[in-house]
Amino acid sequence: RLTKALGQNFLNDEGIVNRIVDAADVGKEDVVIEIGPGIGSMTHELCKRAGEVFAVEIDARLIPVLAQNLKGFSNLHIINNDVMKLDLKRDIISLLSPERKPEAVKVAANLPYYITTPIIMKLLEENPGIDSMVFMVQKEVAERMTAAPGGKDYGALSLAVQYYSRPRAVFDVPPHCFIPQPGVYSTVIRLDIFKTPPVTVKSEELFFKIVKAAFGQRRKTLLNALSNSGCLAQGKQDIRQVLEDTGIGESRRGETLSIEQFAQLSNAFFEKGNSL
Ligand code: SAM
Repeated sequence: RLTKALGQNFLNDEGIVNRIVDAADVGKEDVVIEIGPGIGSMTHELCKRAGEVFAVEIDARLIPVLAQNLKGFSNLHIINNDVMKLDLKRDIISLLSPERKPEAVKVAANLPYYITTPIIMKLLEENPGIDSMVFMVQKEVAERMTAAPGGKDYGALSLAVQYYSRPRAVFDVPPHCFIPQPGVYSTVIRLDIFKTPPVTVKSEELFFKIVKAAFGQRRKTLLNALSNSGCLAQGKQDIRQVLEDTGIGESRRGETLSIEQFAQLSNAFFEKGNSL
């Protein structure tokens, strides 16, 4: 019996499994973290191609089935836990044998959709030496991750993903490739993690606070969204001044700002004493 609450939609199409693992570009030199292996349809292919595979599955009932289905592989480590509760460095990377380079860590997952964004944000923020990640996500989430400024899909998720990585949608997957079928189309997306971010920000915390504030009231002008949010030490007049000085202007809306402009803005506020 599958649990809807855990986002259990299992892939039932070997062709799709192969294309996901192709997109992850996994070889014998690689260590792969798989989140939500389920009963192992993708794990099997990962174990065949990778050096080592760490499969993190929350549902204890699936663990014996997973272990049985993959009993021929000595390079598989099954971790029965909630991925959100793991410290990836401590609970996974530290288990690697010393000859494995941490740069060779890749992530592959057909993600549970109820928790897609928190999982991706955890991996990006905690990054224990990951160089690329390939995920199955809802098509609409893939569109938000890859969105450019100006459109309705562009928001805090786009900026967070694009601060840490270069995202690329690889291919779409229709509902009938899963059991049970989800109610939405899916997209396989690849994130190539940057060694250094594409923009220089003086405080990441302030940068992301400003992004959040700008999109928290996305229909408002930046001046109003930033003044109302309470995330800055300045009052409305001073915020107006910074928006003028940076050349961004008070009447712009957050959704029209590039990542460079968000960086410029947050650095200007940082200079004015917003160290948070
Ligand atoms: N990879 C399998 C496949 O493609 O057939 C299953 C994918 S299914 C969409 C998502 C899997 O993630 C389920 O097996 C579910 O039990 C597991 N899962 C859900 N929440 C999780 C969490 N917080 N941590 C780890 N695994 C989780």
